[in-house]
Amino acid sequence: VLDVKGVKKSYGGVEVLKGISFSLHRGETKVLIGPSGSGKSTLLRSINHLTHPDDGKVYLKGEEVTDSNIDKMRARIGFVFQDFNLFSHLTVLDNVRICQIRVNGVERDKATRRAYEELERVGLSDRADAYPAELSGGQQQRVSIARALAMDPDVLLFDEPTSALDPELTGEVVKVMQQLASDGMTMVVVTHEMSFARQAADEIIFMEKGYIVEQGDPQTLFTGAENERTRAFLNVIA
Ligand code: ATP
Ligand code: MG
Repeated sequence: VLDVKGVKKSYGGVEVLKGISFSLHRGETKVLIGPSGSGKSTLLRSINHLTHPDDGKVYLKGEEVTDSNIDKMRARIGFVFQDFNLFSHLTVLDNVRICQIRVNGVERDKATRRAYEELERVGLSDRADAYPAELSGGQQQRVSIARALAMDPDVLLFDEPTSALDPELTGEVVKVMQQLASDGMTMVVVTHEMSFARQAADEIIFMEKGYIVEQGDPQTLFTGAENERTRAFLNVIA
């Protein structure tokens, strides 16, 4: 579904992505880990040109993501941010409904039904009329996931979706993500939640200094990573 080929990005002469390539098949969950500053966010953002890559290509279902089709492509690539990014002046229902209507041209009643379905899926259909500020961080993040799902994306990207949350709220968000993974959603998740990585990842990608150092299934990586730096990192975080 998603092919990333040789993506490079520099900031002020410093190359933070040094030619990253990976593929994501339909229904796969990949977890991206690595030390702070290794380029994880830059990589995710490069996929839908929130950051403009200097070199390399990204293909979604065989179609190259370019500047001229970026709006259409972004509608098909869901993005869940660390800080939720909800529209604070809109209700939960409108947050989940608005992009369906404005971007995908879905008719209002249909968008409403879909919004309730997705809110149900994240366990928040009873909070449809609330405003984001009236919700906990964990609930806000679940709304943000419902909003992304309502767009019917081909792939969902998560950038540290639980790192702005108090520990007791992390679990409810991880649970939703685990359910999505087992429902066959196609996703790339940057996270330090190793319980999620163990249970939900088809593959873990370890990045350092702009390179993919190692990738493999969780079992293999957790029990015997080949690369010494991968092992050292996992020892600290897992
Ligand atoms: P973290 O785990 O802390 O989120 P990360 O792996 O997501 O880290 P990135 O945010 O992708 O890392 O950053 C990679 C490098 O690029 C860092 O050195 C960072 O300072 C630099 N960088 C990222 N965004 C910008 C920017 N907009 N302008 C300049 N430098 C940037
Ligand atoms: Mg980051």
